[in-house]
Amino acid sequence: MLFDILTIFPDFFASPLGQGVIRRAIDAGIIRVRPVDLRQYTTDRHRTTDDRPYGGGEGMVMKPEPVFRAVTALNAELPRPEVIMLSPRGRLLDQALVRELSKRSRIVLICGRYEGFDERIRKRIVNLEVSIGDYILAGGEVAALVLIEAVARLIPGVLGCGASAQKDSFSDGLLEYPQYTRPREFMGMEVPEILLSGDHEKIAKWRRRQSLKVTLHRRPDLLDKARLNEEDLNYLKSLGYTGR
Ligand code: SAH
Repeated sequence: MLFDILTIFPDFFASPLGQGVIRRAIDAGIIRVRPVDLRQYTTDRHRTTDDRPYGGGEGMVMKPEPVFRAVTALNAELPRPEVIMLSPRGRLLDQALVRELSKRSRIVLICGRYEGFDERIRKRIVNLEVSIGDYILAGGEVAALVLIEAVARLIPGVLGCGASAQKDSFSDGLLEYPQYTRPREFMGMEVPEILLSGDHEKIAKWRRRQSLKVTLHRRPDLLDKARLNEEDLNYLKSLGYTGR
């Protein structure tokens, strides 16, 4: 899978892409990430990518021409990419969207700076706007990295153990159960007895119930869309859940 990142800060990405599972995925050729310098697509001597807003007001706005030129050049390469703009006005990135995007073969990510983009960029060349949360960053670069990392770890071969992505929080619409490792007793706190029992069926059931419980307490909104069976619902109702 190929990610092209349009940015005025192409050097931003070297360190985060050079660590951990993302680095290994790049080294193994499973993903490719190409930061593309937007300034390369300017035509003036000062390599200008932003200008003052029509109508007045604070700050600068990203000019349309360099972004148009860059995306046109990238669109000419195959396979045709999904063109995504990082924007606080976009669709909120959640695991469902991450899963959808993990099926694409190529994604172009457009990173804004300053006050954001000239509206005509959105209108003409963007397929999807994505927000990583209800807050404002200084630029789209961190958001692009969040998207790449979340999407990449779902691509087969990126995580050492394929099973672990399936058990993560959100994979079936629930938060994850509590995890423990050694030592068995730490500062007077014991690992729950059931996890030492070796009874895998009982452990699976305990974990499922813990997932349901933590989701009910912390993110009851997730239960509306989660995949729940009758036993799950009965357990939730015993905890006071009244939805569904
Ligand atoms: N004036 C804009 C914010 C611009 S922030 C507004 O109020 O909507 C500058 C750039 O940072 C944006 O163009 C976008 O690319 C990026 N950015 C900021 N917050 C973001 C978020 N929550 N999700 C994704 N990208 C974001």
